[in-house]
Amino acid sequence: RSLLKNGQRSFGTRFKPRQTQLFIDGKWVNSAHGDTFETIDPYTEQPIIQVQRASVEDVDRAVYSARKAFDQGPWRKTSATERGDLLMKLSDLIMQNCDELAHLEALDNGKPVTFAKMGDVPGTARTFQYFGGLANKIVGDTIQAPGNFHAYTRKEPVGVAAQIIPWNFPLVMQAWKLAPALAAGCTVVMKTAEQTPLSALRIGELIQQAGFPDGVVNILSGFGEDAGAYLTTHPDVDKIAFTGSTEVGLEIMRNSSKTGLKRVTLELGGKSPNIICEDADVSEAVAQANFGCFVNAGQICSAGTRVFVHDKIYDEFIDKSVQLASQAVLGDSQDPNTTQGPLISSEQREKVWGYIESGKGQGASIMTGADPYDGQGYFIKPTIFADVHDEMTIAKEEIFGPVMQVLKFSDYDEVISRANNTDYGLAAGIMTNDIGRAFYLVNSLRAGTVFVNNYRLGFDI
Ligand code: ADP
Repeated sequence: RSLLKNGQRSFGTRFKPRQTQLFIDGKWVNSAHGDTFETIDPYTEQPIIQVQRASVEDVDRAVYSARKAFDQGPWRKTSATERGDLLMKLSDLIMQNCDELAHLEALDNGKPVTFAKMGDVPGTARTFQYFGGLANKIVGDTIQAPGNFHAYTRKEPVGVAAQIIPWNFPLVMQAWKLAPALAAGCTVVMKTAEQTPLSALRIGELIQQAGFPDGVVNILSGFGEDAGAYLTTHPDVDKIAFTGSTEVGLEIMRNSSKTGLKRVTLELGGKSPNIICEDADVSEAVAQANFGCFVNAGQICSAGTRVFVHDKIYDEFIDKSVQLASQAVLGDSQDPNTTQGPLISSEQREKVWGYIESGKGQGASIMTGADPYDGQGYFIKPTIFADVHDEMTIAKEEIFGPVMQVLKFSDYDEVISRANNTDYGLAAGIMTNDIGRAFYLVNSLRAGTVFVNNYRLGFDI
């Protein structure tokens, strides 16, 4: 494999982006002042295309459109079953365009096209399908009331949902936000991440094709500092759903209260523990830990980055992990043989590199990686640090890159308290063949999701 330079690639891009405008009120429009920004291919480090950049005026237009669609349009009269049918139709259209969406996602985000085709796109389609099925199964309660009184609850759509998503899984994040809101009967203004606007716009076209009424879904490409921040303070927004960094989540929580009480849902960072018990199948544990930490080049909030390994199997685990990590094929995101793409941007690479320097400086042992990549693309080689201690920065802060921290333990209550000693609490993993130990750990770990004997993060690949 030759290392290409200067914006070349070994594989041609089979699909060019078709849509770069803003999707407001069922129409494709330019931004109010004609501002655009360029989206960069993380492999060639070259601009892909200019995209319309939403301004605060565009946010106003989009929120107005969503408000109107909620308050006056046909959407509120659409039955739950019809909403479900539309979501199912969208799901089918996504699978019909799987190849194109996967290539577009790989181009804009840098992830390997094979993963996008087997993971991101089917996962997106299944999300819309799942919520399509759920739409007419949203039910309330009947409450015991005395005499002739009748008391019941109805689940009502909240109204206009402002949804802000990150760049690591552009299609999946879009689906996780849109599908439940639409199933419930809300209308949406979505702002995508400035690094990855393209696949979401293609979904906008498919939303049109599926036949959703105008204004029900509005999609804005743009930045957080202006369009995003304004959207979260807009008085006509009823609900905010955000996935991204903890810092921005905090800011959104604060901003959202400036113009009344909005409901806010935040999905933020992680520094998840993955506990490898002494009775685990070591090769299997190595494979799971590798996937859980390195998939998507480690740019995943629930990545298992603090790998606690029992001292009886510690050395074997490290040897096998180094072997497996060295098999990663770094390269062109459009090449079907690539298993690890570049990071999203040069800033992200700098940030991850800073953590690698900090790990070295604070005395962790480099087992593999941690040396610069020679070639184009914002790559970081899969890196494994051993002899990591809890107080090291690399054991505490979210790195969001392909960097694994291996920590040693010998006592289960000790490892539970170390695993729980974090500001986060997103996910955790356990590898064990002892069912009693599995339940004990599941019940003791303070994390939203606990994976047992897998760290597949919900991937079917
Ligand atoms: P990351 O560090 O992964 O890029 P961010 O939290 O910075 O995550 O970004 C996630 C999303 O939040 C992006 O769509 C970004 O544009 C948006 N965003 C950033 N800052 C703000 C803000 N102040 N208000 C609303 N959205 C924002």
